[in-house]
Amino acid sequence: MENYMKLEFPSKSQNEAFARAAVGAFAAQLDLTCEELADIKTAVSEAVTNAIVHGYPLKRGMVEIECRISGNQIEITVTDQGKGIEDIELAMQPLYSGSPDEDRSGMGFTVMESFMDTLQVQSAVDQGTAVTMTK
Ligand code: ATP
Ligand code: MG
Repeated sequence: MENYMKLEFPSKSQNEAFARAAVGAFAAQLDLTCEELADIKTAVSEAVTNAIVHGYPLKRGMVEIECRISGNQIEITVTDQGKGIEDIELAMQPLYSGSPDEDRSGMGFTVMESFMDTLQVQSAVDQGTAVTMTK
């Protein structure tokens, strides 16, 4: 099976639940267990929350999600054109948070990494971040 979809929405916190549900509905056409589907939704909500809170800390911007189904695999890319990440390796470490004061546990990337099969992060300061995950 081959399929594709693309979503774009402003970085409002209400859209985190929308993104989670929309990607979940799209991924439901794959042959997945309930647990696998729940893992995908959780990983998407972590990536989208990061785009909203870290990508656009001061000024709102757009968040884009692209999903591609190929066979029984799904590839999901969450992109923002916000702040970017200075040190990706550091940011991906468990318990590291660039804003620990805001009650963040620094576990988002760790969750994405463990719930998905692959995780790739591309980022440039003041240009934005793209997180690609497959399962
Ligand atoms: P948690 O996800 O547990 O609430 P967190 O968001 O700080 O905490 P991670 O999701 O692992 O932890 O992200 C680690 C750090 O990477 C963030 O604190 C932030 O500094 C940086 N980061 C992640 N995503 C982005 C993004 N889209 N744009 C800019 N910085 C980001
Ligand atoms: Mg996070």
